[in-house]
This record gives sequence, structure tokens and C-alpha cells, in this order.
Amino acid sequence: MIIRDHYLSSACQVASPNYDDRPDPDDVSLLVIHCISLPPEQFAGDYIDQLFCNCLDPNAHPYFQDIHQLKVSAHLLIRRDGSIRQYVPFNRRAWHAGVSKYQGRERCNDFSIGIELEGGISVAYTDVQYRRLADVCRTLLANYPTLSSQRIVGHSDIAPGRKTDPGPFFDWSRFHELLNSNPESPAG
Ligand SMILES: [Zn+2]
Repeated sequence: MIIRDHYLSSACQVASPNYDDRPDPDDVSLLVIHCISLPPEQFAGDYIDQLFCNCLDPNAHPYFQDIHQLKVSAHLLIRRDGSIRQYVPFNRRAWHAGVSKYQGRERCNDFSIGIELEGGISVAYTDVQYRRLADVCRTLLANYPTLSSQRIVGHSDIAPGRKTDPGPFFDWSRFHELLNSNPESPAG
């Protein structure tokens, strides 16, 4: 897994318009883990791509009527099967965290990379999602020296009371064990 010019080579690139410049492009110092599924807790279709690209059909599902006008994105999505989609290059500011604060510093979008896991807060994540997430984070840590394994948080950690993802089913100790284990072979 390699990063070239702020794009992850193994990701399918889907360009979202929902990004802008970081105030300090060299400050990429936080990883934020999220979950998303559209409709909630259903794992089929391309609705997440459509939401992040501002083309979600509000009539496709009742839930979409409330969200289709949101201007949101993330850098990455890891789907249930482990496939990865990238919407925003890592040096740009994706719009994933909203009102947020990390160690007293507000507007976490300014300095973070947002990674969505396809999932819900009451559903277990898949084995391959953990492995892919660990691979992705290890690659990001190697490419952005201002990141560290101590600076990986859930959305709920930086927006408490407002956000609950990635939720109680996300196993942080399992994730950190994988993150610290030997990397998979480059072909893996
Ligand atoms: Zn979130």
C-alpha cells in the first residue's frame, strides 16, 4: 500500500467536491475514525459515493430526504469487503468532523484525515475492515510524520454528545494490535 501525491494507490478514486484547503497544509496530525451506512445499517449500493458527491437522490429512501443536501465528505471509506474508496486527497481538508475539538483545539477538519468504515454503531465490523484499516493507518503514519499512533480517535471522541461513531462495536485494542503488528506484504 503506497501513497503517491496524497492519493492512496490501492483505493478507488471517487472525486468529491466537498473539500477545500487546509489552513496549514503541512499539519496533518490526527486520524479520525467514523462509520457510515446508507440507508443506516444497510450495506449495498453506492449511496455513500452519491452523498459525498452531492448526487444522492432524496426519493431513493425516506432517510435520504434529511441528508441529501449535506455537503460532507471523508478522505477514505473502507467498505464491508475491505475495498477502499478515496474522495479527497490527504493534503486537502475533507468535511467529515463538523464541530469538534481535540486536546483543546477546535475544527478538527483543519488538521485531520477522516476515515469512514462502512458500518453502524450497533453492528460488528468485518475482519477485513480491521486489517485494511490497520494497513491504511500504518501507511499514513509512514507518510505523514506529524501523525502518530497516539493521535487516532473516534468521531465520538472529538464531538462528544453530538456523535457516537464508530460506536461500541469498534474494538480499539484489536485495531491497535493490528496496527503494531508486522505489515502485510506489499501485494497483500
Ligand atoms: Zn462520523
